[in-house]
Amino acid sequence: MNIVVVGSSNTDMIVKVPHIPRPGETILGGAFSIAAGGKGANQAVAAARAGGQVAFVARVGDDLFGRQAILGFKKDAINVRHVVKDHKAPSGVALIFVAADGENSIAVASGANDNLSPQDVRAARAVLEAAEIIIMQLETPLETVRAVAGMAFGKKVTFILNPAPARPLDDDLLKKITIITPNETEAALLTGIKIKDDAGAERAAKALAAKGVKIVIITLGAKGAYVCSEKFKGVVPGFKVKAVDSTAAGDVFNGALAVALAEGKPLDQAVRFANAAAALSVIKMGAQPSAPRRAEIDKMLG
Ligand code: ADP
Repeated sequence: MNIVVVGSSNTDMIVKVPHIPRPGETILGGAFSIAAGGKGANQAVAAARAGGQVAFVARVGDDLFGRQAILGFKKDAINVRHVVKDHKAPSGVALIFVAADGENSIAVASGANDNLSPQDVRAARAVLEAAEIIIMQLETPLETVRAVAGMAFGKKVTFILNPAPARPLDDDLLKKITIITPNETEAALLTGIKIKDDAGAERAAKALAAKGVKIVIITLGAKGAYVCSEKFKGVVPGFKVKAVDSTAAGDVFNGALAVALAEGKPLDQAVRFANAAAALSVIKMGAQPSAPRRAEIDKMLG
């Protein structure tokens, strides 16, 4: 397994509505869909479809949604030996309203994701130690992120942290991260620097690098990503597409980035690959349904 993703799995329940319902309001006439989601699961699926050999470490409930999620991972040839069925908590669920103007409103019931523990990480030790790249996000407990970071630190493995959803991180954790991949909002929360232009992105990236993170990649939506490493500093431009649903764009970016790096692509080329995959994901609805396959990414890259 060259890539191991440790993180969340959710089932997204999406209702399209004319506008986001106000407190006490009932709106009729919405369209409903269910899609597999959760940042960890999205990244695992994105990496597998982009051509990576992927193992996923996670917790789902012992229920219909959990079983459905595992079936989905298997379809994408993801190793699910360390996807634990939690007998106490239900599978994670996200209830999502999407308004006609694209605005959304989301409530997440984390369920089993909240029980993903350092002990689960230790149980997956053999898989983690064999990894070239480990990816995590912040939809599971921070102590679990710390456990993985501690295991990876000082080893040859590349530890990617996608710090989403945004929350403050301490210096001891930051210095154990090889690559951090915040979007503009997350980078601003982590550094206190508002990102309005490339110069702002550069300042925020340098602030994170000063804390000991080796490589900082700030994703900039349609504009692409600002990259700050010892060898490369600057924006790697995004791909022009007609955006339909940007859900999971960041997740697809991270999954694809891991694959490109595992294949030995230089950093700027790896980010270009990730930009292409993420751009392809915004032209389709849903989280995991929108993750592109390798052939599509290669075609986009030309
Ligand atoms: P998040 O989805 O986590 O908020 P971003 O909005 O920065 O993060 O998007 C992540 C990546 O997805 C970007 O770096 C870019 O590669 C791609 N992307 C996002 N939105 C678009 C878009 N409208 N057109 C093309 N690429 C996009």
